[in-house]
Amino acid sequence: MKHIAVIGAGTMGNGIAHVFAQSGFEVTLIDVQATALERALKTIEKNLDRLIKKEKISQEDKLATLGRIATSTNISEGVSQAELAVEAATERTDLKLQIFEQMDAAAPANCILASNTSSISITKIAAATKRPDQVIGMHFMNPVPIMKLVEVIRGYSTSDATCNAVMTLSKALGKIPVEVNDYPGFVANRILMPMINEAIITLHEGVAEVEAIDTVMKLGMAHPMGPLQLADFIGLDVCLSILEVLHTGLGNPKYAPCPLLVNMVTAGHLGAKSGQGFYVHTPGSKELIVAPSFA
Ligand code: NAD
Repeated sequence: MKHIAVIGAGTMGNGIAHVFAQSGFEVTLIDVQATALERALKTIEKNLDRLIKKEKISQEDKLATLGRIATSTNISEGVSQAELAVEAATERTDLKLQIFEQMDAAAPANCILASNTSSISITKIAAATKRPDQVIGMHFMNPVPIMKLVEVIRGYSTSDATCNAVMTLSKALGKIPVEVNDYPGFVANRILMPMINEAIITLHEGVAEVEAIDTVMKLGMAHPMGPLQLADFIGLDVCLSILEVLHTGLGNPKYAPCPLLVNMVTAGHLGAKSGQGFYVHTPGSKELIVAPSFA
């Protein structure tokens, strides 16, 4: 494979475009918003500069990588040459189904259509296309250039050939792919989100304070950050929506989102992106300050 299309130039899309381009692939990065494309190119350049500073790549590598990234605001045009299209647009089922219909109509017949979704059924996305055997989940982790894992999700109809191609390709990016089946939350979020939810329930029931819960998990379990801090970084709205997928999809009350999480999201306390969640987040500051509601 040579030509890769990446649809959605947000947090994940820019990282996915970066790793493909740095590994020698020709990338077309597509977004409906031209401003998102500009921002993504700036972020990629900044991240490449960081690699130069660490002496991991040269100035020539940076220029060659940037030279391999084209941008477009038109999905049909952007995927017309692609052998793999990786969708990393906003996490909304209706939007993803529409994007996959569009990609299916415009991409070459042999093109594999992948989604970076955190929680939406790959089988459902595949059913919106006429090539369900060539649809697969390619779940990169944030930040994409740093995190090694790619969770490769086989939908109900995904063929062995598609799965093998994506496993091989992920290795070519220097990643470690792990194959899983398409059930709610896949593996990563099936295990992570109940842990985060339990931490919020522990806080809600008054078992311990915010910092105490995070410190126990950091020092006791060697987690690099506590579950409440991690929830703030992921986004509390994202955590809530994934828990709802687990709760509805698996039908087990143990996945019911904690009422405190629901209240925080309703009140607009979404974590780092809104400036407040379990902690207060000030741009440029790494200091951990517990939010006034929990102090
Ligand atoms: P984001 O909000 O940062 O970026 C989404 C981008 O999609 C935006 O730039 C938006 O303009 C664009 N977009 C919306 N509609 C579009 C369309 N019709 N065509 C093209 N582009 C369109 O979101 P994100 O955090 O990068 O998440 C993207 C996907 O990756 C989601 O499915 C999410 O669940 C998944 N994901 C996110 C993370 C994470 O930590 N952020 C981790 C793993 C997976």
